[in-house]
Amino acid sequence: MIPLNEIKTFLKEYSGPPLRLMEVCGTHTAQISRCGIPGMLSSAIQLISGPGCPVCVTVTDYIDRLIRLSLQPDTVVVTFGDMLRVTGTDQSLNDAKAQGGQVRMVYSPLDTLNLARQNPDKTFVFAAVGFETTTPVYAMLLKEALRMDIRNLRLLTSLKTMPGVIEWIAQKQGGIDGFIAPGHVSVVTGSRLFEPLAEKLKLPFAVAGFQGEEILTAIYALVKMRGRGKVLNLYPSAVTREGNLEAQEAAAEFFTPCDSAWRGIGVIPGSGMRLKEKYAAFDAGSEGLDSDHVHNPLCRCAQVLTGAIRPCDCPLFGRVCTPASQQGACMVSSEGSCYHYYINRRKN
Ligand code: SF4
Repeated sequence: MIPLNEIKTFLKEYSGPPLRLMEVCGTHTAQISRCGIPGMLSSAIQLISGPGCPVCVTVTDYIDRLIRLSLQPDTVVVTFGDMLRVTGTDQSLNDAKAQGGQVRMVYSPLDTLNLARQNPDKTFVFAAVGFETTTPVYAMLLKEALRMDIRNLRLLTSLKTMPGVIEWIAQKQGGIDGFIAPGHVSVVTGSRLFEPLAEKLKLPFAVAGFQGEEILTAIYALVKMRGRGKVLNLYPSAVTREGNLEAQEAAAEFFTPCDSAWRGIGVIPGSGMRLKEKYAAFDAGSEGLDSDHVHNPLCRCAQVLTGAIRPCDCPLFGRVCTPASQQGACMVSSEGSCYHYYINRRKN
């Protein structure tokens, strides 16, 4: 174990080749900003944020579909709070609600069970977005719905998986020298998820916890592993190589891989999960999402999500677009890069 002081000194005084390291987890993005980690690094090490915020990577077409569903007479859209404030083509779910749309905010997808049971005359559609971490929760929801014989519950799915988008960023965009692997995702999938990617891309991956010193240790490891296609698990208290097999099996019972549309990227083959045919009755119409227009044409969320620019490079950042006057999804979500750069004055 390298003493933290040595790690800090090494990272501050590093004078090797310039490195760009990407964190692919909204919680890491938040912690990096809160702890002021960019200020602890040499100017030769740049941290950039990736597509780790589930709300941010969801395409406009999906928001528009939720809005249309909420305006149907017997349908109620159920969602987490962040999704309410993201603007689709013209309006947000909050706007739709103000016009009579039926929208309920919950803290857990499982809350939808009670809503559906208590209101049998309505159909409840849960906005099922998220990564490998959340998919098993939706599987649990459907399992319970089947057990309780609840038939007025649906999912509008835009579920994502990490390997495809990481590969897209590394190969199509390039200029990344290593990844801080998504921590919550790794708990479910295990660190082995990143092994084929590391080998193929010849890039290092470090699985990290969420404390400031754990993130610093991961950055140190990535610098030391530069140019090597290796995965290092620095979060063994929560992450194993195999992951949570029970959660993986639960997800595999209800969902199967599919192509998926990402904001700012387009469709990446095999980068999503959809309901299996035998559970198609739970689907609220999730097929064919692909449009990617933005509410404000000057919004640079697409480039921010792929690490092409920093949030503060967007012309609207901090001027027109703030947490109080959001112009794009990355400023709306509590896991969004722009939001965290703004509230923590992160500059890199
Ligand atoms: S600062 Fe606002 S407008 Fe610019 S990329 Fe971020 S969310 Fe979009």
